[in-house]
Amino acid sequence: MDLTRRDLIKAGIACTFTVSPADAFARWFSSSGKNEKEITQNDAPEKLWKWSKEVYYKVTLGRNVQCMTCPNQCILEPNARSRCQSHVNKDGKLYTLVYGNPCSVHVDPVEKKPLYHFLPSSGVLSIATAGCSFHCLNCQNWEISQVRPEDVRFMDMFPDAVVENARKTGCRGIAYTYSEPTTFYEYMLDTSRLAREANIKNIWVTNGYINKPPLLEFCKTLDGANIDIKSFSEDIYSRLNAGRLKPVLRTLMLLKEKGVWFEITSLIVPTYSDNMEMIKRMCGWILENLGPDYPLHFSRFSPRYKLTHLPPTSISFLEKARKTAMEMGIHYVYVGNVPQADSNHTYCPSCKKRIIERFGYLIAENRITDGKCSFCRQPIAGVWK
Ligand SMILES: [Zn+2]
Repeated sequence: MDLTRRDLIKAGIACTFTVSPADAFARWFSSSGKNEKEITQNDAPEKLWKWSKEVYYKVTLGRNVQCMTCPNQCILEPNARSRCQSHVNKDGKLYTLVYGNPCSVHVDPVEKKPLYHFLPSSGVLSIATAGCSFHCLNCQNWEISQVRPEDVRFMDMFPDAVVENARKTGCRGIAYTYSEPTTFYEYMLDTSRLAREANIKNIWVTNGYINKPPLLEFCKTLDGANIDIKSFSEDIYSRLNAGRLKPVLRTLMLLKEKGVWFEITSLIVPTYSDNMEMIKRMCGWILENLGPDYPLHFSRFSPRYKLTHLPPTSISFLEKARKTAMEMGIHYVYVGNVPQADSNHTYCPSCKKRIIERFGYLIAENRITDGKCSFCRQPIAGVWK
């Protein structure tokens, strides 16, 4: 976007060059209440690395190239860098800079993703590279999500090594997580294919912001996902996340259609998404389009990144949201980031007994047998073996 002198004056910023053009941008955007991720010109590295790989979904437009991985659909001039910071146009070709280079690798319990109805208490090798398609003001992982790949420490770990490391550490799955895995789509997809061959599950922890063709391809090897619904309002998505809601809802419907197990996370951010009427609208949409069986996690916000002035979400609000969602008919609703809460356990929707007891991320007791409540034999939705 080009800023004219008039725009700057309108935004109350005098064009006397007492602020740098970059600061002027930042102030203009904050004063207009918008939160936008920008394409950066002339920001491609001088030379590509040995591991740089061409992006799978793109359209060539002469010397320019458009990324078709996510709904941002960045059109990049030569040497420009995408909004997610992971892709550059080099000589008319679109490259990912993060292939085979995770900056985070950990073994986590699957409950941490969170996935509560997916192979309880199994370990998952969790990987991330730098970059994100969104720009959430409350990002918990902004040190890796809002930076360029070359600005963080990373290691060489190609898809075969990821699968081998998962196997060696006894993990039943690999999670693509922490930052936004759709920005390392090529690395994730290639790894997921090898993992499938090795009988290791693939888990996608995501903002759900992806175009349909790459999602359909990924569904062939995807076993489980956790998708954020960050609010149920396009306005809030624009201000809080620099994203859009509609493509996320499409992703949820496609996963359902393709039979991929998923759970939904709704982080409640005070003054943004702590609105019970909006939560009711979201639950109504879920019931109408996805049914009552996909778990919903209301997660507690803690002050981070650009929202350190806000308080953590009140636990009573989270409990009220859970009660509301369950009264509307959603079967499995949890309160997240509140470790000792009773709302962390799984209850049978039929006999109401506690069937999975959780202590933080640990499973204290599991009363599900062959995918059914062991008290009343009610089938419990999820992936249990
Ligand atoms: Zn039961």
